[in-house]
Amino acid sequence: MNRVSTKMSVGSVGLWVLWCAVGTLFGCAALRADEPYARSRNYDLQHSRIALRFDLENKKVIGEVTHTLALLREGLDQVSFDSVGLQIHSVTINKSAAKFETTPKNLIVHLPRAGKLGEKYDVEIQYEGRPTKGLYFILPDKDYPNRPKQIWTQGESEDTRYYLPTYDYPNDRLTTETILTVPSDWLTVSNGKLMSTTDANGGMKTWTWRESQPSSTYLFTVVAGELVEVKDTWRNIPVTYYAPRDRADRLASNYRRTPAMIDFFSKKLGVDYPWEKYAQSMVDEFVEGGMENSSATTNTAASLRNPKLQPEYPMGEDGLISHELGHQWFGDLVTTKDWGNIWLNEGFATFLEFMWTESHFGRDEGDYQRWEAIREWVSQHNLYAKPIVRRDFDDSSEFDGNAYGKGALVLGMLRYQLGDDAFYAGLKHYLELNRGKNVVTADLIKAIEEATHTNVDQFFDQWVYGAGAPKFEITYQYDTEKKQVAMHVKQTQQKIEGRVGLFCVPVEVEITNATGPKLYPLTVSKAEETFTLPSATDPQMVLFDKGARVLKSLEFKKEVKGWLYQLKNASEVPDRADAAVALGKVKGQDEAAAALGDALRHDNARGVRVVAAQSLGVLETPAAAKELLNALSSVAEPDLRSAIVQALGSFQENSEVAAKLAAVAKKDASYRAQAAALEAIGKIKPAGAYAILVAAVGGDSPDGYLRESALAGLGSLGDDQAVPLLREWTLPGKDFDSREAAIGSLGRLKKDDKEITRLIEGYLREPHLPVRIAAVFALGTRGDTSAIPALQTLLNSNDLSSEMATMVQGQIERLNDRSGQGGARAGVAGEPKEVAPKNSEDERLIHLERLVQEMNDRLKNIEGRLAQVAKP
Ligand SMILES: [Zn+2]
Repeated sequence: MNRVSTKMSVGSVGLWVLWCAVGTLFGCAALRADEPYARSRNYDLQHSRIALRFDLENKKVIGEVTHTLALLREGLDQVSFDSVGLQIHSVTINKSAAKFETTPKNLIVHLPRAGKLGEKYDVEIQYEGRPTKGLYFILPDKDYPNRPKQIWTQGESEDTRYYLPTYDYPNDRLTTETILTVPSDWLTVSNGKLMSTTDANGGMKTWTWRESQPSSTYLFTVVAGELVEVKDTWRNIPVTYYAPRDRADRLASNYRRTPAMIDFFSKKLGVDYPWEKYAQSMVDEFVEGGMENSSATTNTAASLRNPKLQPEYPMGEDGLISHELGHQWFGDLVTTKDWGNIWLNEGFATFLEFMWTESHFGRDEGDYQRWEAIREWVSQHNLYAKPIVRRDFDDSSEFDGNAYGKGALVLGMLRYQLGDDAFYAGLKHYLELNRGKNVVTADLIKAIEEATHTNVDQFFDQWVYGAGAPKFEITYQYDTEKKQVAMHVKQTQQKIEGRVGLFCVPVEVEITNATGPKLYPLTVSKAEETFTLPSATDPQMVLFDKGARVLKSLEFKKEVKGWLYQLKNASEVPDRADAAVALGKVKGQDEAAAALGDALRHDNARGVRVVAAQSLGVLETPAAAKELLNALSSVAEPDLRSAIVQALGSFQENSEVAAKLAAVAKKDASYRAQAAALEAIGKIKPAGAYAILVAAVGGDSPDGYLRESALAGLGSLGDDQAVPLLREWTLPGKDFDSREAAIGSLGRLKKDDKEITRLIEGYLREPHLPVRIAAVFALGTRGDTSAIPALQTLLNSNDLSSEMATMVQGQIERLNDRSGQGGARAGVAGEPKEVAPKNSEDERLIHLERLVQEMNDRLKNIEGRLAQVAKP
């Protein structure tokens, strides 16, 4: 799945940054951990016939399911299904009434007598329920009377049991027949092939879907509602897209590259797309970014970007689309046996995103995406001590940055070390050996070894079963007499017994001197070692791990002229991007700013240009401001313009910058740049900022794109006269994006005004998830501890997803920390030392809030995976 969930919980790689920040600052307490080990099975569920009807008024599901199962134990006299909150009306076994009982988590059905090994039974269950998760009703209400009606499910990880009594763990596979009776003008989507639609009584219609290839129950899906369909094909396989009825025009334009992706993955993996159709349904208020249900992905409707904004996002929704599509092989056709090995689903899906980027947008873009993923993983300190395969996820989700980002990067390293041919032969063998099966990491190792005859045990030991990554410290000296470079390599990571050790990794060192570049392959394995390499003259550039092939952190002390040379001359994007980052730390030298300005305007790779803009923002010198302003007058690409404007937002008290930002905020050819300028002027607070932001709130733009940024800008600006306007935009009936921004900003103003706290608390009770989440975070930011009881009440209610519960818990802890700190400060009153931490804590909170806002933007944008990672 792709956790680009609602606007606040935001996902894929971005989410992990947010979680990390929230987790580090306030402690993350997950309230429910998924079962880490696969269960032992008593029976094999082979087929389920699932007939569902819906009572819309009462948000009820009325179900009749027939499970065909075979016993895996001699003498078994009962079978148990996962079932939470469902009212079971009757159970029959082979059509005869059966005894059953329910517990809070299970339905236990008694067999008529002790059964025999292999004996088959049809167990039919009649039930109904008002699911608190797993199945969701999105319906019009008094505030949003025109919303298209939608019902959708989200099974992963352990939520199918909230609307269907079943075997709800990945280590079993079954075929399904799904029979959905809905109003006759609705469409439905489920796994597999559409077998029939027939008229039913009372203006209803019954849809029958059949999935003939077995898959796990968390991959089961139902989508139904007032939807529109657009049809496409790939090699005679139906490829379909669905949207809520009012957004038909957004389907083809955002999703049109799907058949090309299916084709690319089929060829590259050597295994054709394995299902009978591929549907993608985009639904409102979806609780994840996307979910790879077998043959029928569900994605957030936020991926249906307004056609007027699409030209500003050249990579479109491809990150999300390729991720979920990639799962159809890795996750659905071959499925992890347990949650401890979830990287076999998520690491591969993320790796396939990288593959698509590289193939469709070019090698430079692919390298940049990988470089950013490395940087992002390294910045998430809470991941370091955890191996990719782990079972101890009771204090944090197993769907973490190790399963996704690190998993993908590890596969990238394996590809690099084995070479493309061997690597893809290994994947093909793995898919063919295990198709239709559940796997653990050992199955991947075995397949790769069989296909390539290369032993990869050490590789997997250190990267997958072991934790962390190497931290290198590099220095070198040139010996003019011996004409040699002595390169000193140190691994400085803390050893964590049994988890992080010394790494043995191949790296390429490139030495460039007067005669040109030369590459030296080395293997680094010791805590400290020195490599002696020939060089006819003193090198102009030495690259350790050319092209950043290895997941690592690197401290390589170079002179400024070395970085300048590297930024201009290194042949690969990651090395130039590294140089751009390093030059952003060289204060007081206008040469660095000039070089970054040059790269910003002229580098061949978009990624390097973005990093150059960011580094100029970090420099914060007058020369850096000048470079950014110059670039703004010549650079036309919207994503670059927006990166430049964002960077300008770090220049306080520079009148030229302030004037330029005000001008861009009022008018620009790029909506993205204009939005960034609105947020930036909120931050740097130039004279006239309030009037500009208020005018932008009242202005018009596609989907209120600029209004949202203006509302966010008013929160950063901190001018209390914005309160009435913000209040107005929090009201039910306004669009969700504006409400979220307004609620977030309102939380930051008039912090002593309890009435505002009460108003925001009121939004905790809204049925609309994005509004609730905005209110949760706004209360945390506000710091008014009187909001704790309201958050606690929400936390105690039974209808929160585990992710949402974690968010609420995090904000309660944030408020508790604040009140605790107040006490501590009182105890040492007068000590100036105590003031500093509070301020820095405030800054961190503001930082976090900015992060949340940027995530917001990114969710709306779902910009591939990785645009500019949260960098206020
Ligand atoms: Zn995924």
